[in-house]
Amino acid sequence: MLPLVFESCNATWIFDTDAMRFRRVLKGIEVEGHAVVTEWRPFYGLEFDETSETFRVLLNAEGTKLIQSWRHTHDCTQCGGHVTAELSLEELQAAIV
Ligand SMILES: [Zn+2]
Repeated sequence: MLPLVFESCNATWIFDTDAMRFRRVLKGIEVEGHAVVTEWRPFYGLEFDETSETFRVLLNAEGTKLIQSWRHTHDCTQCGGHVTAELSLEELQAAIV
């Protein structure tokens, strides 16, 4: 499985497109030295707007329930690029399993 990974200001989003599920690894929060990872949740589609770096995760088949977030970039308009936390490959692989 090669997941799709998006960085937002406060989380790393991991999309398992084979199983159509996603989870988030929260940035800036650690419990006993480990990153906080949310449970896998199903998703029904992913929309990405390259001009605004906005992405939407559809939470039902009708597309009426969704989460919208923004990609964190080096020149981030949402947080001003203050958030620099990035996951190590090791942490990322631990979150994918
Ligand atoms: Zn940001």
